[in-house]
Amino acid sequence: MSTLRFHALKQIYNLKPVLIEEKVRRSEIFGANVFKESTMRQYLTKEAYDSVIDANVNGSKIDRVVADHISTGMKEWAISKGATHYTHWFQPLTGATAEKHDAFFETIGGGLAIEKFGGGQLVQQEPDASSFPNGGIRNTFEARGYTAWDPTSPAFIVGTTLCIPTVFVSYTGEALDFKTPLLRALQAVDSASVAVCKYFDKNVKRVNASLGWEQEYFLIDSGLAMSRPDIVLTGRTLLGHSPAKGQQLDDHYFGTIPNRALDYMRDLETECMLLGIPVKTRHNEVAPNQFELAPIYDEANLAVDHNSLLMDIMDRIAERHKLKVLFHEKPFAGVNGSGKHNNWSLTTNTGVNLLGPGKTPMSNLQFLTFFINTIKAVHDNEELLRAAIASAGNDHRLGANEAPPAIISVFIGEQLTKVLDELENVTDGKLSPEEKTDLKLNVVGKIPDVLLDNTDRNRTSPFAFTGNKFEFRAVGSQANCANPMTVLNAIVAKQLIDFKKQVDALIKKDDMKKDDAIFNVLREYIKKSRNILFEGNGYGEEWEKEAKKRGLSNNKTTPEALKVKKSDKTVKLYEDLKVMNRIETIARYEIEMDEYALRIQIEGRVLGDIARNHVVPTAVRYQNILIENVKGLKDIYGDDFKNLASEQMNLIEEISGHIESINSNVTKMTDERRTANKIEDIEEKADSYCHKVKPYFEKIRYNCDKLELLVDDELWPLTKYRELLFTY
Ligand code: ADP
Ligand code: MG
Repeated sequence: MSTLRFHALKQIYNLKPVLIEEKVRRSEIFGANVFKESTMRQYLTKEAYDSVIDANVNGSKIDRVVADHISTGMKEWAISKGATHYTHWFQPLTGATAEKHDAFFETIGGGLAIEKFGGGQLVQQEPDASSFPNGGIRNTFEARGYTAWDPTSPAFIVGTTLCIPTVFVSYTGEALDFKTPLLRALQAVDSASVAVCKYFDKNVKRVNASLGWEQEYFLIDSGLAMSRPDIVLTGRTLLGHSPAKGQQLDDHYFGTIPNRALDYMRDLETECMLLGIPVKTRHNEVAPNQFELAPIYDEANLAVDHNSLLMDIMDRIAERHKLKVLFHEKPFAGVNGSGKHNNWSLTTNTGVNLLGPGKTPMSNLQFLTFFINTIKAVHDNEELLRAAIASAGNDHRLGANEAPPAIISVFIGEQLTKVLDELENVTDGKLSPEEKTDLKLNVVGKIPDVLLDNTDRNRTSPFAFTGNKFEFRAVGSQANCANPMTVLNAIVAKQLIDFKKQVDALIKKDDMKKDDAIFNVLREYIKKSRNILFEGNGYGEEWEKEAKKRGLSNNKTTPEALKVKKSDKTVKLYEDLKVMNRIETIARYEIEMDEYALRIQIEGRVLGDIARNHVVPTAVRYQNILIENVKGLKDIYGDDFKNLASEQMNLIEEISGHIESINSNVTKMTDERRTANKIEDIEEKADSYCHKVKPYFEKIRYNCDKLELLVDDELWPLTKYRELLFTY
């Protein structure tokens, strides 16, 4: 079998680079494959165009007759671009994107055919929902699922297929996807923010959440990746000894991008441009063969779609370059894993970033209002935010000295800490004119200046303020951003609603001026949220102890972290905001628990297979060679052979020891897996996989990796870390 490894390695030397020519400026092709506003103007009647824009801006419904016009225009445009098929593109709870292609082509009798795409086909489709995770929603209601057009995210063409972004819901209306709750959470944060903005500016009509994600990934030669069953089936290596050189020289981070990777990136970026994904930065990450790509931020729903689409096309383009993209949070032990920072802010229709300080004391008070409310929201819901990023893959990263800990905290920097300290001391009740002037001049008025100096960016914080946005850094690289974005926007919405109630109550009952009331409420929030603020080293052990004293959660594993998702507090939060009903909330909890158990189950099976069917037979083969050698020495040298063969004999015994450990641990792991599989309760089952099955992974790996060091390189069947990480 080792031939596959060597064959794959040899192939790399014969590879010809894929020539990437960029003949036109990127700005010229930007959005060429998107049914964007300027294209719609060309292909739609005015009525149809206005109707899409109105749906976009005001969330209004699109009339069926108008939908017919829109679909016709969309079809004409798509066909002019070479499209032959259309699909409803959606994000089921599998984490991947889903599509089923239908041809425009239709027969009309008499041996004739036309290209057809009606309004009905645009607006609604019925994929078979039963094969997607539904957490019991379908069973409860015996309902089928359907996809419905989301006009707030534009249609686009990939290859020869017109893709229409849709939501995926059951017939009883329960959301079966990631997008529906996200859209509802965005709606909630929009209306809650607008209400609060009215204290400062009556002209604000709409507030959009923005998202700028940063995607980390590994690029591996596809032949090498294919030679590893663990990479093929689990997206990560389950064993493999560390190479002599890893990332210790820090020579990869921001270094020259290897040519093969650069060709891939340029190819990918061209496709991104065509699809209107505004990718902007690319660079090497910390680990060898690890890279990052980030776009210019966008409205959150669109940015989420763009990230899902990006992950999709990254895979497709990689095929062309004989590369494999690894999105897993921890594909290799011993070097850094991958994350996906989510940069988040709120922007008004008047163009103001509510998390960016302004030019006047009043706009700064508005900034502080949103800033402090966000901190309070994170404080009150830290455990839910932790749950939003929980996954089997991310468990390897969080708290592993390379990524934020499993403890959620907020970093705001020295300068803003000082501002909060000052605000914490404002008078209880009405403020004197002197105090107000002082606050305006010396605290609120000074913010823009101080932020310029706020360059200290604590990389160890899971949730950091970085000048004009919060950066949620603990998100996993495989994750669909919709999940963390739904939670973040929902908790901020809930917080802003509470804030407005409290301020209004002070104005009404205590006859306070608006500013006084705002200062009073903010002061209390600062006091209550102190525990979540942390400026120190998030990777340190000290912080774990300190966080425990503060009463912050530290849920290190996914099954632990997910539990809060079905708590009464969470169910009520989503119900009150109309983000999800109880059934939808519980369904997601169950799907995620189940997915966790399944992933560990698959990893356990693959590891057992590799250990028993690849590693042990190879070790035995090598051991036989050694035995032959010892026998030969004995034949030649008679009784003196022991001196000459002592090292070989040690090796023979060592190998036997490792084989024994591997076999007994694989047997024990398999028994635990069998036991876990019989457990009906999903929570107990996930716990069992986490605490009974998974601990064997490290044990089995340990002996396998030792054997890798002992066995003749020529015989070893599994492509080694040094080859995976350092071959371009
Ligand atoms: P880094 O975190 O790597 O230092 P930056 O902080 O400069 O990089 O920006 C990272 C990402 O933040 C970019 O993708 C950018 O588009 C996004 N971003 C910048 N401003 C905002 C904002 N107001 N809202 C959301 N995302 C933003
Ligand atoms: Mg960042």
